[in-house]
Amino acid sequence: MNYIKLKQLFSKPQNVVITTHRSPDGDAIGSSMGLAMCFHKMGHKVDVVVPDAYPKFLGWMDSEGIIIIDESDPDRSSQVLGNASVIFSLDYNNLSRVAAVGDKIEASDAIKVLIDHHLFPDNGFDFSLSDTTASSTAQLIYEFINEMGLIDSIDQQVAESLYAGIMTDTGSFRFSSTSANAHRVVADLIDKGLVPHLIHERIYDSNSFSRLKLIGHALSKKLSLHKSGKAAMIPLSLIEKNQFGYRKGDTEGLVNYGLSIKGVEVAVFLSEELEMVKFSFRSKGNVDVNEIARTQFNGGGHKNAAGGKLDTNLEQALVQLDNALNDLF
Ligand code: 5GP
Ligand code: MN
Repeated sequence: MNYIKLKQLFSKPQNVVITTHRSPDGDAIGSSMGLAMCFHKMGHKVDVVVPDAYPKFLGWMDSEGIIIIDESDPDRSSQVLGNASVIFSLDYNNLSRVAAVGDKIEASDAIKVLIDHHLFPDNGFDFSLSDTTASSTAQLIYEFINEMGLIDSIDQQVAESLYAGIMTDTGSFRFSSTSANAHRVVADLIDKGLVPHLIHERIYDSNSFSRLKLIGHALSKKLSLHKSGKAAMIPLSLIEKNQFGYRKGDTEGLVNYGLSIKGVEVAVFLSEELEMVKFSFRSKGNVDVNEIARTQFNGGGHKNAAGGKLDTNLEQALVQLDNALNDLF
């Protein structure tokens, strides 16, 4: 399928369902809500389905509470996905990233569209806009909207959501993925009514007292260096998270502190959950953490930012991480 065919399809009202990955982040919610608002304006029925809850600091993008959370509302999610004529997969490359939502997508005979910037995308989609050099999926959504001839449907609210995606996925325009094109897209979003500092405030100046205490604890008590200072890690146990009243999103960005230490090439954040440990990997230069996450931690992502998980406890997870770091350095 190409843009011409897609335009034909969307010349008639469609039942659109937009899905995004587990543990939705700023890019996941920003891309989904941006695209959802554009399609809604064009007269399509639009639902957004996410596997599990998103952090509170992204809630302003869903002020009317339209996002369906599969984990807490599986029947509703099955119903909308069952009735979909077009299903979008945003900001993930593989149906395994969307838990039970993946089975529902697989069971549907809707047209399936992928818009994503992760490495190694699945090829089972009718239309794919996959660009691993793009700063964010939100930037690709802008390009998609433009190619579809819908650029005038980007109003201030859409611009704010897309900006939230680009800003969070580029670490506020500092990661190597921050291209001239990312800045050009943002410039256009500003022309459409976006006020950048207000979005930055909504996302980054909404800390709870307990979140800062948790970060303080992680940095002063849990951060350690390994492999002659080339690797940094922060493991947080379930007990510690509970002790500091952990809420989803509270540890977002924590892994970057490790990477900010001079000489560190890989930083890892380990977050213990019930019978599972979630990993966040970040690296500099040529160290390919996507490869490590994909081959040893059931995950994936990008060369310099990836994630994964092991069904084990924190102690065992640290042993496996140590082995992986030994292979690396
Ligand atoms: P984060 O560490 O912020 O959770 O994720 C970093 C990057 O890795 C993101 O692009 C995210 O989509 C990807 N990622 C995180 N966890 C997983 C995972 O379990 N599997 C895969 N394939 N990618 C992941
Ligand atoms: Mn992304």
